[in-house]
Amino acid sequence: MTPVLELANLSASYGPFRALFEVDLAVGEGEIVALLGANGAGKSTIARVISGLVSPSGGVMRLAGRPTVGWSAVRLRRAGVLHVPEGRGIFSSLSVEQNLILALAGESRRRRRMLVEEACARFAILGERRNQRAGSLSGGQQRLLSLAAALVDPPKILVADEISLGLAPNVLDEVYAALGALAAAGTALVLIEQQTTRAVDLADTAVVLHHGRVVYSGPPTEATAALAAGLSGPGSTPG
Ligand code: ATP
Repeated sequence: MTPVLELANLSASYGPFRALFEVDLAVGEGEIVALLGANGAGKSTIARVISGLVSPSGGVMRLAGRPTVGWSAVRLRRAGVLHVPEGRGIFSSLSVEQNLILALAGESRRRRRMLVEEACARFAILGERRNQRAGSLSGGQQRLLSLAAALVDPPKILVADEISLGLAPNVLDEVYAALGALAAAGTALVLIEQQTTRAVDLADTAVVLHHGRVVYSGPPTEATAALAAGLSGPGSTPG
């Protein structure tokens, strides 16, 4: 079956600095790919290429088989690609509920109400604090709010960049349960994580990056070994 998202032989640079070398990656409908690797390996650059913030210098990206060469971030977003970047990305002076409403600005009033109720039910911690100023939440709860705001209207492809960073274990449980439910409903997920345990448990496939190259692609359980073994090189890539 044609993958929902595919990167083929993809390279990217920041000026003279080459960040990605001939990266191959494919994600099917409802599939979860964990993108792993050390600091500076190129994970966020892949996220930026997928969401159109960085243009590839070589190779191609395809959405459902269709090349997206020259597509803007807005066009990719309209096509169903959602990137939740590192950091919080919420409006701290607004309430939790107002943040969710803002994420639904294009929807009818009635649908907005319904989707906000759904988000508050899905993330109980946010439901309890819906009238609280978002800036008064803990860092982890703010992160959860940014995810909830992104998920009120489920995308075709979600790229989550270090979503678990700084989350308390109970919040992390909520986040990962939501990600699992999202994939079960058909969203293709690229989970970028440095803390690999959760991602490896949830993912169908893992891709390990090292200095901008894919050094492993295959079952998540073996990816941990590939990472731990100090990334033994391109020879470790099965198939
Ligand atoms: P981290 O977990 O630290 O974000 P990462 O695996 O996501 O790491 P990237 O952020 O993709 O790595 O960075 C890959 C390489 O590109 C690094 O060497 C980084 O210094 C470089 N880089 C990233 N962003 C830029 C930029 N805007 N300009 C120049 N170089 C950059």
